[in-house]
Amino acid sequence: MHLLLMGPPGAGKGTQAAELVKEFSIPHISTGDMFRAAIKEGTEMGKQAKAFIDAGNLVPDEVTIGIVRERLAKDDCKQGFILDGFPRTVAQADALKGILDELGLELTRVLNISVPSEDLIARAVGRRICKKCGATYHVEFNPPKAEGTCDECGGELYQRADDTPETMGNRLQKYEESTKPLIDYYKKAGLYTEIDGRQAIGKVTKDLIASLKG
Ligand SMILES: [Zn+2]
Repeated sequence: MHLLLMGPPGAGKGTQAAELVKEFSIPHISTGDMFRAAIKEGTEMGKQAKAFIDAGNLVPDEVTIGIVRERLAKDDCKQGFILDGFPRTVAQADALKGILDELGLELTRVLNISVPSEDLIARAVGRRICKKCGATYHVEFNPPKAEGTCDECGGELYQRADDTPETMGNRLQKYEESTKPLIDYYKKAGLYTEIDGRQAIGKVTKDLIASLKG
């Protein structure tokens, strides 16, 4: 089960990845975690990445791809993985294909948790977070018992500064523009499946699993 998981910010990708990990007993490999681990372990590519980051530069594609190659070559990926946050471009998708060919692996499916931008903006704008314990609420979908107060600890709830329609709209537009070529790429490869992320969390999980067993 070698999966690629896609979805816009706020679509619940992390939650769904955790469910897939449980269902299939395969590792969830997010780009951020992969970089942190490579740097901590001091792998060849980790050292190179650290040098770019320490100098305040973007990590170039060849190093990013190198880190992905190191990670996917580990034993725990033989039975499968859920790759998240990579590839971001068609060039990276080609590189991934090359890595998998080298390792004798094949992508099973590319899953995209799709949620329309309007819905994601509504989710973000209504989000409230507890200052004390970090519990999250939503003014409409998951309101606290008393307005502005955390049910768990009585802490004060606040709205994140970037949870505004403007900021979210910009982020989502950028995400869509950069993702469209990748979606086309995987559609052409016959690997692409879209899951309706507007549904309840449990139903999204069910659909994801069903699409892999079908
Ligand atoms: Zn709280």
